[in-house]
Amino acid sequence: MQTQRTQLISTTLGTNRELVSFHFGTPGAGEKVYVQASLHADETPAMLTAWQLKRRLSTLEADGRVRGEVVLVPVANPVGLSQHVLGQFLGRFEANSGHNFNRSFPMPQAEALVARVGTRWTRDPRENARLLRGAVREMLAESTARNEFESLRLTLLTLAADADVILDLHCSLEATLHLYTSPASWPAIEPLARYLGANGVLLATDSGGQSFDEIHTLLWNEVRAVLGEETPLAAPNIAVTVEHRGQRDVSYETAEHDADAIVEFLVRRGVIEGEAREMPPLLHPATPLAGSEQFVAPVSGVVVYRAQVGAFLHAGDAVFDIVDPLTDVVTTVTTKNDGVFYMRRAIRFAYAGAPMGRVSGATAFRTGVLVGA
Ligand SMILES: [Zn+2]
Repeated sequence: MQTQRTQLISTTLGTNRELVSFHFGTPGAGEKVYVQASLHADETPAMLTAWQLKRRLSTLEADGRVRGEVVLVPVANPVGLSQHVLGQFLGRFEANSGHNFNRSFPMPQAEALVARVGTRWTRDPRENARLLRGAVREMLAESTARNEFESLRLTLLTLAADADVILDLHCSLEATLHLYTSPASWPAIEPLARYLGANGVLLATDSGGQSFDEIHTLLWNEVRAVLGEETPLAAPNIAVTVEHRGQRDVSYETAEHDADAIVEFLVRRGVIEGEAREMPPLLHPATPLAGSEQFVAPVSGVVVYRAQVGAFLHAGDAVFDIVDPLTDVVTTVTTKNDGVFYMRRAIRFAYAGAPMGRVSGATAFRTGVLVGA
């Protein structure tokens, strides 16, 4: 295991942060897999899973079983980790700018990348993929970060840019284990969903959020469109966001289970030598992110959830009540679709319009930006 420390731009006099990455296996020996955890800094179940994964990868490497390369960043957001305001941990947004740490990731423009490779494009899709990855790395290396936030994002992008497989480990507020990925990545990700026991898989090619996992697939689609059919490009990087349940679901048992599932997935891909365990069945078919029913509070009041997180609900089932102790009015909100109640709010008071939870649905009906702030 090699340890790499990348210094981030110092925000203020007398402070320095670094991004630490652990590198297993041999670059170029096989597939490159990039795994990062807790890009939203207050999502610690992911960090504990990454720690368990690090221990497993160290043993596997010592046994000579790592065939490809695995880059692991267990603490992907040292900036957000230090944001505590009046006792509240603010790990999702950068306190200075208000930017969500996992939105609007900057990537080189498709036209510029195509021009960068220029006359070197070939008829071989795999060679073209290699050329594209090289061009992305070159252009990222030429990018200049102006502050600590930008240098963090540039460091993460640079570590992941030439990976074949990207796993971005997060968690939700109160949630069952679920995944976000693209339809293009889904066939390759299905074994991971099975080993993890994912209770939901939400698919979108472009959710409008430009999240870390999504930009890699999106970029390849854009480059493919610029290149045209004459210049074929191999399948894009496989990328997924794993939501390791809710923020308070931190236990050795779940972290060990999830790390084991990731190892099984890597064995199955041939990145780790061994015999892959038989895949458990998929709990639910993947559904479009645009089919996810997203509840908001119609009025303010005390929140009483009627549905358990992870439950499969049928249209008309009660999801939650909002109780007004001044007027005695109890407002019940029901689901319009059948699906898994995969995440919900952590705080039991709602303001009018507060996001309250989501139920997956098989039929796409939403348009525009599909992810929350
Ligand atoms: Zn997150």
